[in-house]
Amino acid sequence: LTPLAKHIRDTILATGPMSIAQYMQLALTSPIGGYYTRGQVFGRSGDFVTSPEISQMFGEVMAVWYVLHWEMMGRPPKTVFVELGPGRGTLMDDIMRAAKRFGAFYKSIQGIHFVEKSPELRKLQHDRLGCDWSTTAVVGDKSDAGRTPLSGVSQQHGGLRVGWYDVLEQVAVDKDCVPLVMAHEFFDALPIYKFEKGENNKWSEILVDVADSSAAPAQSAGPTPLRGSVGSKIGGDTTSTSHFKFVRARGVTSNAAVVLRDQRFDSLFTKGNRVEVSPESARIMIQLADWISANNGMGLVIDYGADWTQGDTFRGIKGHRFVDPLDSPGSMDLTADVDFSYLRFAAQGRAKCHGPIEQGSFLHSMGIQARLQQLLQSTGDSKVQQDLVDCYKRLTDVHSMGRVYKVLAVLPNSSTLSPIPFAQPPANGPHKQ
Ligand code: SAH
Repeated sequence: LTPLAKHIRDTILATGPMSIAQYMQLALTSPIGGYYTRGQVFGRSGDFVTSPEISQMFGEVMAVWYVLHWEMMGRPPKTVFVELGPGRGTLMDDIMRAAKRFGAFYKSIQGIHFVEKSPELRKLQHDRLGCDWSTTAVVGDKSDAGRTPLSGVSQQHGGLRVGWYDVLEQVAVDKDCVPLVMAHEFFDALPIYKFEKGENNKWSEILVDVADSSAAPAQSAGPTPLRGSVGSKIGGDTTSTSHFKFVRARGVTSNAAVVLRDQRFDSLFTKGNRVEVSPESARIMIQLADWISANNGMGLVIDYGADWTQGDTFRGIKGHRFVDPLDSPGSMDLTADVDFSYLRFAAQGRAKCHGPIEQGSFLHSMGIQARLQQLLQSTGDSKVQQDLVDCYKRLTDVHSMGRVYKVLAVLPNSSTLSPIPFAQPPANGPHKQ
C-alpha cells in the first residue's frame, strides 16, 4: 500500500466510507502522492495526450479567437491571460507565439496568470515559458514555495510577468485590465459526487469503502456493496483487484441533500438513474462568471463532456487506457465527463454562456485548415507533412476528439456580442439527453 492509499484506507476505517469527491481530491492533489503532484503525466510517454500536446495548431487557433474578440470589444488597451490548470504550459506558449503576429493585440498583454496546484507542473510551466529561476520570486508566505503564489518573467515572451496561484481567488487583476481566460481539460479533474435514485425518489450516494468489508467500522454497516455497471466505461467488476470498492449509502446522505438541492434533479431522473455532480466546478464557474462580468473579460472552457447530466463516466486513465479508478490512488489520472449544462446553470444571471459546440466545428470555423495548409507548405519533409495531417484529423475528426470535446465561451453578462463561431445560447439549466 502506498502512503496515500494507506491514508485513504485509514480515513475510511476511522470515519466510514468517503464520497467519491473526497477520494478524487486526495488521489489527484494530495501532497502525499496525489497524481498531479508528479510531473511527467502528459505526452506520448505519459498517461494521456491533450490537444495542445498533439499540435501547435490548437493553441494558434485559440490565439486567433482571442484576437478576434479583442477587436470586437473595441481593442481594450490592457489585457491579461489567465489559465486554469495549464499542464505543461504548452497551450499558453503556443498562444503567446501566435499572438506576437498581431502587434497591437500583443502589446495589450500585461502578463500571464496560471492557476496551478501542482508544484511539479509549475516547474514545467515555468521552464516552458522561458522563465529564469534567478528572477522568480515567491510572493507572500514563503513556507511552502511550491504552493504559494510565485512570480516570474518570461524571457521568450518579451519579459512578460508570469504569476502562479493555487486558486482563482488569489489572482488580482487591475480594474482596467481585461482578463482572457482559458480552462482546457481543467473541469474534468475536479471532484464529483455520485448519486443513484432509489425507491420513493430518494437519492443515495455512491461512496468509496475499503474492499475487505469485515474491517469496516460499525458506522459503515449501512452501505450495501455495489457491483457491475459502476464505472461502466471500464466494464466488469471494479472491486476485484483494488483495495477499495464502491458502495451505496443506505438512506439519504447529507451530501445528497446539499448537492442535489435543485429540483431539476427530482423531475428529470427516475429510479435507477445515476448522476455525477461536481459542486466544486459550479463554485469555480460562478467565480469565473462574476470575474469575467466585473472586468469585461472573455473565456473559453474546453473539455470532454456533454450538455447534460451523466451518471457513469467516472474513470481512471493510465498509459492511454481506461482503468479501474479505485486501483492504487495517485498512480493514475481520475476524471469524469464535464456536465456543460451544469456549468451554464451555475453561470446563469452572472455571465453569458455560448455553446457548448463541438471542438471539430470550432476549430474548422476558426481556420485550422488554412493553418494546416501553411504548415504543410513550410516543409518539404513528407513524414512531417503526414504527421501534421494526422494531428489535424485527431483534433477535428468526429470519431476522435472532434465531437467528444466541446467548447463553451463565457462573456460578460452585459455583453451583446455574438461570439464566433457560436450560435445563439440555448436555454439554461441541467437537463437529460
Ligand atoms: N490544460 C492542460 C492540462 C490538463 S490536466 C492540457 O490540456 O494539457 C489538468 C490540469 O489541472 C493540471 O495542470 C493539474 O495540475 C491542474 N489541476 C487539477 N486540479 C486542480 C485544482 N483543483 N486546482 C488547480 N489546478 C488543478
